[in-house]
Amino acid sequence: MPALRQLLIALFCSLAVVPMAQAWGPLGHSVIAELAQRHLSPAAEAEVERLLAPERTQSLADIASWPDQIQDDPAQAVLWKQTRSLHYVDFLTGDCHYVPPRECRDGHCVVGGLQHYVQVLGDRSQSDDARREALKFVVHFVGDVHQPLHAGSRDDKGGNTYQVQFDGKGSNLHRVWDSGLLYSRKLDWKAYAQMLDTTSPAELPAPIEPADNPYAQWAEESCRITTQPGFYPSGHVIDAQYVQVELPVAEQRLREAGRRLAEVLNLALAR
Ligand SMILES: [Zn+2]
Repeated sequence: MPALRQLLIALFCSLAVVPMAQAWGPLGHSVIAELAQRHLSPAAEAEVERLLAPERTQSLADIASWPDQIQDDPAQAVLWKQTRSLHYVDFLTGDCHYVPPRECRDGHCVVGGLQHYVQVLGDRSQSDDARREALKFVVHFVGDVHQPLHAGSRDDKGGNTYQVQFDGKGSNLHRVWDSGLLYSRKLDWKAYAQMLDTTSPAELPAPIEPADNPYAQWAEESCRITTQPGFYPSGHVIDAQYVQVELPVAEQRLREAGRRLAEVLNLALAR
């Protein structure tokens, strides 16, 4: 009865609770995950479905924010403590040059987190539980490393201590980039991913070069965005002009993150 089974799966998915929380926020992470899902190879798609089956979803968008959500789950307190430093990287110099022992001591940064969890995900000798957890972290961290303020070089906790006025309210630059800019589109993640999906080569990132450390390169790109003139708004005000200039930058990062996530998953889950 495949039709009934599909109906039940669809029902489960529609009932799945996706909390609207702070932090890229759930919208950004889900857009990136959905963009990636649209470009998975058949082998990767099948393995994603198999690994996510116990979560009662086939959608990467549903699990993309889990590594943030565990901070509110007492049962996951140890995992949160072990992984909280893996969501970002602080560049210690304004030239945005990644030097592993300096920017990522003992692998405790988003670049190290990606290296670790991509390896676990691709290792079929690991348990399904370990690989499922790794999948969630990979989907999330590819998103985080593309959020410019998760890889900045200023001593301002990724823009969290940089107060701004946005929409007539007090906020901070990190929040504006995590969610404020994106929510101004008033699209849900599915429609947003559809809008950002493109076949224009000019908007697509170059293929990953296996010999390089692509995660470090993505972090350096993010850092360089934060050093562009005007990224830190003059007068601490996010006005219409700022949104007009920076929203397309944010959306290009979502697009790059989505396509690169697909590539990472296709490589790690190839048969
Ligand atoms: Zn995060």
